[in-house]
Amino acid sequence: MKVLTYHSIGIPPKEARLKTLYVNPKAFERQIWLLKTLGFRFLRLSEVLSGNFSGKSVLLTFDDAYSDFFENAYPVLKRYNIPAVVFVPVMCVGKFNLWDWKELRVKKPIMSWDQIKMLVEEGFEIGSHTLTHPFLSRIPPEQAAREIEDSKKILEDKLGVEVVSFCYPYGDYNNMVRDMVARAGYRIAFTTKKGSFEDSPNIYEVRRITIFGNDLLPKFFLKCL
Ligand SMILES: [Zn+2]
Repeated sequence: MKVLTYHSIGIPPKEARLKTLYVNPKAFERQIWLLKTLGFRFLRLSEVLSGNFSGKSVLLTFDDAYSDFFENAYPVLKRYNIPAVVFVPVMCVGKFNLWDWKELRVKKPIMSWDQIKMLVEEGFEIGSHTLTHPFLSRIPPEQAAREIEDSKKILEDKLGVEVVSFCYPYGDYNNMVRDMVARAGYRIAFTTKKGSFEDSPNIYEVRRITIFGNDLLPKFFLKCL
């Protein structure tokens, strides 16, 4: 089983760096259509956690909760009745990518609480992507603990649902950070290390496959196998 990672679903502005992290909305819809047509199952976190799936399955994850998820991905997923997990950097809700807008040369808007609440009502799952999107292994442990624990509490308070999943910003973690995530009550955590779910060393170091904007459909398909 493959966990797919998306970032922006949209057209990158001219000045943006890392344009490959933008997947064209039409290409995204073709990817979803292809998997649906080929009989892939789109998993929910509960199914992943219970191990209730076969090889021909995917879990869709969206890092950073960009507004373009709401504009371009959510309508497609809703139409096909497909679940997904969105990882939210809590202090950036309703703002923009405060952590890397200077490097990327673009301010990417992040969804509002109202939009995120609507997603929850529609059955989408929300995970924590910390408070401020730091490199967790490089900040003092007490600060890392706050990023991990407080983001969960705030999301649960605002949304009224349990938050069971976590995603390491920049894929950065070490054993101490991983253990903090487990102790905070999360039941699964996602890295940026490449590989299938079954290749992951444990449930707090789940491997994923990043989908890039320049992946043509055949390449996308091979990545899902
Ligand atoms: Zn991120």
